[in-house]
Amino acid sequence: MNHQTCLIASLALAAAPALGARGEVHIVTSTPTLADIARQVGGGHVSVESVMKGPENFHNIIAKPSHMMRLRKADLFIHLGLDAEPWVPLIIRGSRQGHLYYGEPGNVDASRGIALKEVPARGELTRAEGDIHVFGNPHYHLDPLNGVIIARTIADALIAADSPHRDDYEKNFQDFAGRIDALTTRLTERMRAYQGTPIAVYHRSWPYFVDRFGLRQVAEVQPKPGIEPGPRHLSDCIETMERAGARVVITETFNNIRNAEYVAERVGGRAVVLAHEVGAVPEATSYEALVEYNVDALIEAFQAIGATAAPDGSTP
Ligand SMILES: [Zn+2]
Repeated sequence: MNHQTCLIASLALAAAPALGARGEVHIVTSTPTLADIARQVGGGHVSVESVMKGPENFHNIIAKPSHMMRLRKADLFIHLGLDAEPWVPLIIRGSRQGHLYYGEPGNVDASRGIALKEVPARGELTRAEGDIHVFGNPHYHLDPLNGVIIARTIADALIAADSPHRDDYEKNFQDFAGRIDALTTRLTERMRAYQGTPIAVYHRSWPYFVDRFGLRQVAEVQPKPGIEPGPRHLSDCIETMERAGARVVITETFNNIRNAEYVAERVGGRAVVLAHEVGAVPEATSYEALVEYNVDALIEAFQAIGATAAPDGSTP
């Protein structure tokens, strides 16, 4: 390293932010679910705020100067990565905080280490029709065991930013992982009666959840992620559900509930609004509460339509 490179390197280090006045790591997250996991792993050593509110759709947030101002105070910015949040690169650039740029330690991509589902084959990648999910399905946080992987990524980022508190971050992570493992085991047991039950979804937000709890997704109300259905697609969706014996439609707070209810009524079933984020519904007050609410609401819907799994794992 020559003298000039050395000088530039030390200037870059000098530009890295010191921790906040009270020695806390200030974390900004894109979504409230990431904020809740960061709070649980960070404990008393962090302050956390989310750009997005629970009921909003992370695909459709409009980047605002106020979001960029929030990032200016952040030691770490945690986001979902992939193409989940098209507004995130804009607010990172707009914040002008070099330590939050992609590839820098302050930029934490929560998709690291996740086994992605629905990754398009080479040659299928196109945004020609407004496609989203082009790097694989970005709704991975809805499988609780992926929540543990996210927590590990956050713990590693916190240890790198604030190594004196390494032991606390490790303990918080282990406690979180233990709680989630126990919760997943308990909920899997509750869902055992509905193994293989066919369901439809409004948006493709649920493949990680569906696989974790042994369900079978057979139809989607949106013809492609982010594209609203026309009458022809609604008819096709109803026909597919009837053929597969699916009578529950999973939707989110921000979707067109009339479309979901129309499809559900036509198959003699029901639409159920699940929590796609912490805070999406009042009951989803934490990550654990979100997962439990989703299983509870789905079981309630299955019971209302009288669905039970056949001994071979498929519903009659
Ligand atoms: Zn999506």
